[in-house]
This record gives sequence, structure tokens and C-alpha cells, in this order.
Amino acid sequence: MRCPSCGSSHLRLSHWKVSDLFFLLTLRFPARCWLCRERTRVSILQALTIRRLQKKEHHAHAKHGASRKTPI
Ligand SMILES: [Zn+2]
Repeated sequence: MRCPSCGSSHLRLSHWKVSDLFFLLTLRFPARCWLCRERTRVSILQALTIRRLQKKEHHAHAKHGASRKTPI
């Protein structure tokens, strides 16, 4: 999925607001673009994909942090 504003694929799941309740009922989840910070809504499948990618990124960052601590 891509950001409708800038075309970037760097989307993150956004926090739910009251205004999202109607969309949540139709299984649309709020997401935010990393680059232009545009708020959009994605399908449940896309939301799950984003969440999986976010978890992977978190792992990568953790590994990176650990490798930086090891002496050369
Ligand atoms: Zn964007």
C-alpha cells in the first residue's frame, strides 16, 4: 500500500481516534505516512502487513544497537 499524498510505502499504524470508530466498523484502520505525515486509512490486511513490518524493524534496530556495543 502507498501513501495517497506522496506515494511513499513507509506507512505506520496510527493511534485510534473517536473519528476512526466508523471506519473501524468497516475494517479500515488508521495509518500515518512517515515522510509527509499524511493520515490515511488502510484495510485490515494492510494493517496486519504494516504491523508485521514494524515488528521486523524493531528487531533490526535492537540487533543494530547490540552490535554497536561490541568492541571492534
Ligand atoms: Zn506520504
